[in-house]
Amino acid sequence: MSKLRFVNSLLISTAICFFLPSIAARGGHSDYIHPGDGNFSFHVTARNLFAQEETRPSLELTRGYMTNDDLEKAMKDFTKRCSKISRLYSIGKSVNGFPLWVIEISDRPGEIEAEPAFKYIGNVHGDEPVGRELLLRLANWICDNYDKDPLAQMIVENVHLHIMPSLNPDGFSIRKRNNANNVDLNRDFPDQFFSFNEDLSLRQPETMAVMTWLRDIRFTASATLHGGALVANFPWDGTEDKRKYYYACPDDETFRFLARIYSKSHRNMSLSKEFEEGITNGASWYPIYGGMQDWNYIHGGCFELTLEISDNKWPRASELPTIWDYNRKSMLNLVASLVKTGVHGRIFSLDQGKPLPGLVVVKGINYTVKAHQRYADYHRLLAPGQKYEVTASSPGYKSKTTTVWLGENAFTADFILIPETSSRGNLLRSSCDCSCKSCGQPLLAQFFTETNNGITITLFVVVVFLCFLLQRRVRFNLWKQRQSSRRSITV
Ligand SMILES: [Zn+2]
Repeated sequence: MSKLRFVNSLLISTAICFFLPSIAARGGHSDYIHPGDGNFSFHVTARNLFAQEETRPSLELTRGYMTNDDLEKAMKDFTKRCSKISRLYSIGKSVNGFPLWVIEISDRPGEIEAEPAFKYIGNVHGDEPVGRELLLRLANWICDNYDKDPLAQMIVENVHLHIMPSLNPDGFSIRKRNNANNVDLNRDFPDQFFSFNEDLSLRQPETMAVMTWLRDIRFTASATLHGGALVANFPWDGTEDKRKYYYACPDDETFRFLARIYSKSHRNMSLSKEFEEGITNGASWYPIYGGMQDWNYIHGGCFELTLEISDNKWPRASELPTIWDYNRKSMLNLVASLVKTGVHGRIFSLDQGKPLPGLVVVKGINYTVKAHQRYADYHRLLAPGQKYEVTASSPGYKSKTTTVWLGENAFTADFILIPETSSRGNLLRSSCDCSCKSCGQPLLAQFFTETNNGITITLFVVVVFLCFLLQRRVRFNLWKQRQSSRRSITV
């Protein structure tokens, strides 16, 4: 090595050592791919090397925090104490075999209902333990208050809330960011721009568990809790060219709205001097690749925020009550936003009145929301104060569009779709069209001329009666009204 190259290497190493700790302090947004660096094999190696550089919190700081065993016991105790509104389940195991426990809170835990689901995940990074503590407090607070606090009651009755305090119990036990295989779980998901995480055999069990979880449960929105900053972060997290700038996803306005719900309900997040309103687009802060947030939005149909809830990654346990106090309203309001805002409804078929697992799109937003496979309920989060053209479609049916003026409250729009063809023939479809305002007069006229008057009248009465019954049946099954003040339509 020439003298010049040696000096250069020394300078670069010094620079890396200087900058890494400050990057690491940014919770979920430390990153090892530098803008303009196209070498992703370097990325995989570097994230492992990086872990050796981090300084672990002192053992003394763990005092007052739950150990993994404490947490498991606390979750089991919780679901015993609050068995009426909760259940405990595991979505898999960590590298070292620790169950990845989840508490579900709902008035019908474990059942599938025509309701949105929300998930909170804490402790993705092992050395960021505040989230796991706060999530247990959140569960207990809801259990203690759902019969007297309207917000808690609304969540229990209208949302299925899934709480996973720790995705990385192995990292927590050794007070390190990465999992037991020294992999950063928030860089281990498939990336939309780069294929460096494609190899399934390299995917971590914790990551696999989350990916499978999203196939089993249709989550409308979610948030992961990190530490090291105070900001609500939203997609996109990465850019196509790996440079740092604001990179908006199709639902940018909705994400800004959701992030603001969190930051403005927080005691001081929105007062941030670093982040305007206490929110940030991930890529404009620092691009990352293979993150959980973007994967949720793209592949899980789930609007996910990355919440940095404490400047200090591992504060003293004595500070936890204050941090909980600062975050409590935000955590509740974010979950409740699934019910209080957006456009919701169900999709039915006109011919049989059955739920149709169709698709919902909003004009001008390149994103599709799927209705539930069984109940065909859909939950389309949208920024309020705007007009939206909402279209529902399902294979074999004519799609329908309605215009929604979305105010501060949620809006219910049910869709009744007409089959493209019907085995009962054109008569039924024509005379019983959705609103019965556009009945097929020519067909009916032809029908009348081919029968005598007595049969005609009888048949006419039967057809009208059937039409009436069919509409009653469809309407009877419609989505229950959540709030008396909520506006709703059926199209
Ligand atoms: Zn983090």
